[in-house]
Amino acid sequence: MQTNIRRSLVVGNWKMNGDKSLIGKMQSCLSQVDLGNMDWAICPPAPYLGLFDSSVRLGVQNVSQFDSGAHTGETSVSMVKELGCQYVIVGHSERREDNFESNEIVALKVQKILDAGLTPILCIGEPESIRDAGNVFDYLTTQLNAVVTLLGISAFANIVLAYEPIWAIGTGKTASPEQAQEVHAFIREYLAKQDSNIAAGTVILYGGSVKGSNAQELFSQADVDGGLIGGASLNPEDFLSICLAANQ
Ligand code: PEP
Repeated sequence: MQTNIRRSLVVGNWKMNGDKSLIGKMQSCLSQVDLGNMDWAICPPAPYLGLFDSSVRLGVQNVSQFDSGAHTGETSVSMVKELGCQYVIVGHSERREDNFESNEIVALKVQKILDAGLTPILCIGEPESIRDAGNVFDYLTTQLNAVVTLLGISAFANIVLAYEPIWAIGTGKTASPEQAQEVHAFIREYLAKQDSNIAAGTVILYGGSVKGSNAQELFSQADVDGGLIGGASLNPEDFLSICLAANQ
């Protein structure tokens, strides 16, 4: 991790995994070390949110774009705020696919999260077919434009971005450090064209099969400010080693 104005961040996305016993194991593993040079957070399934102690910074994997009302099965941003969450993952490719979340719905969710004073972790990333066709930058530009159109570039002062190539999520196929850096630099340049100060301060995470064994190399790239971690966040020792890689 290079010295810069951005603080590195590692976020665990448990998805629909884990159980009550993992909460205790994770807390005791991470409390044994000083991770003072970085931030870390866990996004467990929503029913577990109230079971963590205050040493763990929490996030959720989704919120509704609505405030309240007849939306069975949904969770509002004010509810997760009451439970002490700071981060909300939004636009994860699994939600875009499973729940048909369009770029416009994702942008509305980002707006709700920002209005509540929480930090969106806005996920963007291309499927393999788009990479093979050489259209990665156009694809990501469309995803980013939806948020800029609704909220303006100034909103990015309070947004964490996560670049997650879909072909690397849960597949064991990690983007090479050079591939990750190329895209992260493109994203930062996209922001810089609109506001150079915001671009310099925006934390951009990489997500896609990050493990203890490859985290250091990925995080050493100039524009990679940490990681959004799926599978490896279910293993306390592996998650800890990823945090240590970011704690430089
Ligand atoms: C994710 O789903 O956000 C993710 C990065 O998953 P994995 O680390 O398992 O590839």
